[in-house]
Amino acid sequence: ADRMIAPERKAEDADAALRPKTLAEFIGQKAACDNLRVFIEAAKGRDDALDHVMLFGPPGLGKTTLAQIVARELGVGFRATSGPVIAKAGDLAALLTNLEDGDVLFIDEIHRLNPTVEEILYPAMEDRALDLIIGEGPSARSVRIDLPRFTLVGATTRQGLITTPLRDRFGIPVRLTFYSIEELELVVRRAASLLDLPITDDGAHEIAARARGTPRIAGRLLRRVRDFAHVDGSQQVDAKAADAALTRLEVDRLGLDMMDRRYLTMIADIYKGGPVGVETLAAGLSEPRDTIEEVIEPYLIQLGLVARTARGRALNARGWKHLGLNPPPDSDS
Ligand code: ADP
Repeated sequence: ADRMIAPERKAEDADAALRPKTLAEFIGQKAACDNLRVFIEAAKGRDDALDHVMLFGPPGLGKTTLAQIVARELGVGFRATSGPVIAKAGDLAALLTNLEDGDVLFIDEIHRLNPTVEEILYPAMEDRALDLIIGEGPSARSVRIDLPRFTLVGATTRQGLITTPLRDRFGIPVRLTFYSIEELELVVRRAASLLDLPITDDGAHEIAARARGTPRIAGRLLRRVRDFAHVDGSQQVDAKAADAALTRLEVDRLGLDMMDRRYLTMIADIYKGGPVGVETLAAGLSEPRDTIEEVIEPYLIQLGLVARTARGRALNARGWKHLGLNPPPDSDS
């Protein structure tokens, strides 16, 4: 389904135009930024490549943006690719041998690397060397190629799918977390000013509160609200205009859409608030289990509407309240 509040990148997002270019411009994620700043300074001071960095976190929180910022702050080149794109060991070898000294190589969705490619990566990360097998059969031999110094920045939305040997080779793990509404207000105001769109403080707040803790969604909602504002001939976006636009787009006060409400309503109506297994919910909603676990649930759990228990998913008091319903009298929520 094409969801307005999907956190994944869409062509319409024009992410690049809104990307902060320096750590100072990057909003929020203070702990991550403070650490990176120290490690970048230290690497520059030693005139060495930065240690490899692994960025963990849900889609749309700024992993690609941070990877680009790291390269820029180091003053080195930036190359980007993604796990599923690197089909063969040779593809990775070509990428690595073409790097310039000190470059940042960004691999998005690194948990989706093919295992044979991943094995080539280990000596590359550790010893800056590629071990390639030339030829076949009895005449096959292995050659070692030295690589330039480089920093691998890996990004993943699925921490649990990173193999231990790969994880162990990243010296700098960085975890990104959902943004607060105050931080998203800054993201919205910054984007509005880049888009030359006048916006009031309460207008920025209205959009931020519905952006699911995610800058990409904040940017997308802002662009849609701008479309409505233009058509209605408003001079600026205030809370009323933002609310009217987002309500028409069926994004509610907490940033939930029809899909989220179907999920919550199914637990409430059919399973009396749960607990109910995720497979059962996936079947009932005709959505893949991955979509439920990666896209729908993280934000609903973060909001405290749903809990993930050993026996399945259960609606919390806040979840019942958001649906405007009362929990059944015998439930423990
Ligand atoms: P990811 O790689 O984690 O999916 P991106 O780095 O592509 O996310 O960021 C998505 C969008 O959100 C981009 O348009 C980016 O400009 C914006 N964005 C992300 N983090 C921030 C931030 N801290 N401050 C301002 N904008 C941000």
